[in-house]
Amino acid sequence: MMTSVLVTGGAGFIGSHACKALSRAGYRPIAYDSLETGHRDAVLWGPLVVGDIADRALLGAAIATHRPVAIMHFAAYAYVGESVREPARYYRNNVGGTLALLETAASHGVEHIVFSSSCATYGVPDAMPILETTPQRPINPYGRTKLIGEVMLRDFCSSGAMRHVALRYFNAAGADPEGALAERHDPETHLIPRALMAAAGAIPALEIFGGDYPTPDGTCIRDYIHVSDLADAHVAALDYLLAGGSSTALNIGTGTGHSVRDILSGIEALTGRAVPSILHPRRAGDPPMLVADPRRAREILGFSPRHSDLGTILATAARSFGLRRAA
Ligand code: UDP
Repeated sequence: MMTSVLVTGGAGFIGSHACKALSRAGYRPIAYDSLETGHRDAVLWGPLVVGDIADRALLGAAIATHRPVAIMHFAAYAYVGESVREPARYYRNNVGGTLALLETAASHGVEHIVFSSSCATYGVPDAMPILETTPQRPINPYGRTKLIGEVMLRDFCSSGAMRHVALRYFNAAGADPEGALAERHDPETHLIPRALMAAAGAIPALEIFGGDYPTPDGTCIRDYIHVSDLADAHVAALDYLLAGGSSTALNIGTGTGHSVRDILSGIEALTGRAVPSILHPRRAGDPPMLVADPRRAREILGFSPRHSDLGTILATAARSFGLRRAA
C-alpha cells in the first residue's frame, strides 16, 4: 500500500504543488482543506477531505481513515496586511487551528509534522542574509502567529513522541512548470501576479508600496522561491524525518534578493509589455529586505532550488495569466 501523507491546505497554492511533488515521490497525498481559499480543482493527486483544521472530530476521523505517516500543515491565513487589520482571525485560524491540529495529531499517534513557517517570523533583521539563528522578532500579526506555531511545535515535540521540520519560506512565487496548477488568490495581493495583471490590462496599474525604503532603488527586496522548489523542499523534509532526523527549522529561499522594480522590469523584458505602475505609500508591516541564507537546508536536506531563477519564476507565473514570452 502507498504511504499516505495528510496535507492541510492541500487545495491551496503551495499545498497543491506539494501534493503533486508527494505523488511524484511515491506518496499518496490526502488533501484536507476547508475550501475557504483553496480550489477543489487543484486537488489532482489524491482524495480531498473538505473540513476545517479546527474541527477535531473530522480531522481525527481523516487521520484514523487514512493513517498518514506524516502531516504537512499548510492551512493558514497568509496576508500580512490583512493580519494587521484583522488580528483575531489570524490568531483563531493560525494559532487556534494549529493547536487543534497538533493535539489531534498527537492523540492519534502521528509522529511527523512538516510546518509552513515564514521569513515573516524574523521581522526586520539586523543583518542580511538571514540565518536560522537570526533572532525572530516578527513585526506583524501574521509573523507572530507563525512564530507561535513554531514554538508550539517545539513544545509538542519535546517529549520525543513527535518530530517536526519548520520550513521558513521566503516569497513563494511562480507556478507548476507543466502548467497543471496556477496561483489563484481572491483577492490577489501578491506582487508578481498583480504586476502580471497590470501587464495584461486586468488592473489599471501596479501599486508600488513604498519607494523610500533604504534599498538601492527605494523599493522592498524579497527572496522569491519557486513554488515547485518549495514543494520539493517539503518532500525532502518528510524524507529526512522518516529517516530519523531530529526536529529543526530551515530557511527555504535562494539567497538572492529582487526589488519590486526588478520584478517589474523582469516582467517587461519577458512579455515585451509595459507594466503600468503608480507609487503608493508603504504597506503596514512590510520589512525593507528579506533574503535567506539557504545553506542549512542544503546541508541538512540536500535541497537546492532548481526553478527559482527569476526568469523561470516569471515565465511560469505569466503563463497562468495568458501572457507569453516576447518573440
Ligand atoms: N508589493 C507591492 N505592490 C503590490 C503587492 C506587493 O509593491 O501590489 C510589494 C510589497 O510591499 C512587498 C513585495 O512587493 O515588499 C512582496 O509582497 P507580496 O505581497 O508579494 O509578499 P509578502 O512579502 O508580503 O509575503
